[in-house]
Amino acid sequence: MPLVSTRQLLDEAAKGGYGVGAFNVNNMEQIQAIMEAAKETNSPVIIQASRGARAYAQDKYLYHLMLAAAELYPEIPVAMHLDHGNSYETCVSAIELGFTSVMMDGSLKPDGKTPATFEENVAVTKKVVDYAHPRGIAVEGEIGVLGGVEDGHGAGGSGLDHVTDPDQAVEFAERTGVDSLAIAIGTSHGAYKFTKKPDGSVLKMDLLIKIHHRLPKTHLVMHGSSSVPQDLQDIVNKFGGKLKQTWGVPVEEIQLGIKNGVRKVNVDTDSRLAITGAIRKVFVETPEKFDPRDYLKPARAAMQKVVALRMTQFGQAGHAGDYKAISIADIAKGYKDGTLSTKPEVAKK
Ligand SMILES: [Zn+2]
Repeated sequence: MPLVSTRQLLDEAAKGGYGVGAFNVNNMEQIQAIMEAAKETNSPVIIQASRGARAYAQDKYLYHLMLAAAELYPEIPVAMHLDHGNSYETCVSAIELGFTSVMMDGSLKPDGKTPATFEENVAVTKKVVDYAHPRGIAVEGEIGVLGGVEDGHGAGGSGLDHVTDPDQAVEFAERTGVDSLAIAIGTSHGAYKFTKKPDGSVLKMDLLIKIHHRLPKTHLVMHGSSSVPQDLQDIVNKFGGKLKQTWGVPVEEIQLGIKNGVRKVNVDTDSRLAITGAIRKVFVETPEKFDPRDYLKPARAAMQKVVALRMTQFGQAGHAGDYKAISIADIAKGYKDGTLSTKPEVAKK
């Protein structure tokens, strides 16, 4: 299957009542791990790259690895998504390269650190939508600011500093025409999300449900949604790591989100932990080994395992064969003739 539009993946997920994991990648092994997990569980999937990933791997390597993934797994719908575009120019460069969707994170100024005003966010996001849709490319916006920092991107601080206001979410969706909306409900980027198992005082699932009630057809996106499982933390620390005890977003909370309009779930930290734990284990148990394949193979397998588990938990497993890819040119037509709506359905308070 060619690389497909994230819009199609999310529309299908809404029809099927499931969520789609969006897994971050920086290299070949991570792409291979995700594709093998998708094959194993028969899942449609979103593979995403941040600005940091694009700089690390270089755009051309990334893009051609993604083309290889699409070619090698014709039965799997796979989208290539830009995670946290910081500016109009970054989004345009991703679209020119061949990404099938972009996130314009206008919640922050282009420095990727300072919270932007609502009007700035609307303006830059709308500008990206106006460029992207005629080219058949879907756009994710963000309203409210996530906590933490990842890949140098983020406002830092707690996820509770700038949670999403439901009225602003409605206005933002109406004025920008985004395909999906990332909301801030207390989650943070990185491994250190919560200092205890999160309850309603730190993870605002009630707010998510409120936003979903106002925007019942809008695809919501949960960022910073690694679960940071104890067993993966333990493997890292057992083999010489020094992670402080931490808690991620419990899978059951993500599943509650999926019941309430969440269609895209961003996961990065869990993959990182799985890879690092597997590599540390090889280094400690067999220090005589020096062939990178000796530790990259188990690393890849460990990431595949956690990704396959998430695919099953998010409900996307089993859905790869539900539909055929719509070409990006036809997606563009759909935006033009209105078959792909960009006007959100809004319910009264
Ligand atoms: Zn994010």
